Amino acid sequence: MQYKALDEAQQQRFDPMISGFNPTDMYAVRHIERVLRTFPGVFTGVGEFSVHREFVSSKVSGEVASLSNPALDSILDFAGKVGLIVILHNDMDMPMASGKQQPVYLAEMKSLLKRHPETTIIWAHIGLGRVVRPVGNRQYPNQPASSHIEVVHDMLKDPAFAHVYFDISWDEVAKYIVASPSSLVASADLMKKFPDRFLFGTDAVSPPDQVFYRALYETYHELWKELDAVSSEKIRKGNYLRLFDRARQKGSSQKVGVSGVDFG
Ligand SMILES: [Zn+2]
Repeated sequence: MQYKALDEAQQQRFDPMISGFNPTDMYAVRHIERVLRTFPGVFTGVGEFSVHREFVSSKVSGEVASLSNPALDSILDFAGKVGLIVILHNDMDMPMASGKQQPVYLAEMKSLLKRHPETTIIWAHIGLGRVVRPVGNRQYPNQPASSHIEVVHDMLKDPAFAHVYFDISWDEVAKYIVASPSSLVASADLMKKFPDRFLFGTDAVSPPDQVFYRALYETYHELWKELDAVSSEKIRKGNYLRLFDRARQKGSSQKVGVSGVDFG
C-alpha cells in the first residue's frame, strides 16, 4: 500500500519483493499468487527468503526447511513461470564447519538450482554467513583442493547454472572478500571473469541515513578499485537493471491481473 501511494516516478525506484511465506508450506505458492492478484503491478520478485540459515532456520515453527522440500520446488517453478526474480538465502555450509567435509548444503543446493533452469535465482551472500565461513582450500579424499572461489567458479562455468547469480551483500560477506590482498584479488579476478553474474547489495536493514546505508559500498572500496570499470559498473548497477527490469517487463502481476494465466 505504501508503494501504491507513491507517484509513478517514485515507484520506478523500487522493486518490491514478496516475502513472509514459509518455504516448507505447500500453499506458499498460493500465497504468492494471491499477493500478485491483490496487488497487480507492484512486485518484481520473491525473497530474500531463507532455507538453511545459521541459527535462524531452527527457530521457524513447524517443518524444518529443506532444499528437497517439494514446496520449495513449487515456489521456484511458479516464479519461473510468471517471471518473478528469486533471492534465496541458503548457507553453503554448517555454522563453524570443521572444513573436513564437503560444504554440507552445496550438493543439495546445486540440484535444486538445476531443477529450475527457467527461474532467475540470486544466491544471496554467495552462500556465506556470520559464522558460515568460505570453503577454505580443503583437501578432500581423492578430490582436488577446492576453495570457495573455486566452488563458485565451477558453478559459473557450468551452463546448467546459467540462470544463477550471486550477490555480495551483507557486511558478513565483505569481511571475507576484503580480508586480505589475496582474497580481494581472487574475488575480483572471478568477478572480472563473470561480470554479468554478481550483484552488489547492502543488506542494510532500515538505514537511518545515507552514511549507514552506504557503509558496505565504502567497505568494498578496494574491490571497486580492483575491478575494471565495466565489471564494476555491471556489479554495482548494470546487472541489477538488466535482471530486475526484465522481471518487471515479464510483469508477472500484469499477466496474473490481465490474462489470468492458469497456474495449473
Ligand atoms: Zn540473507
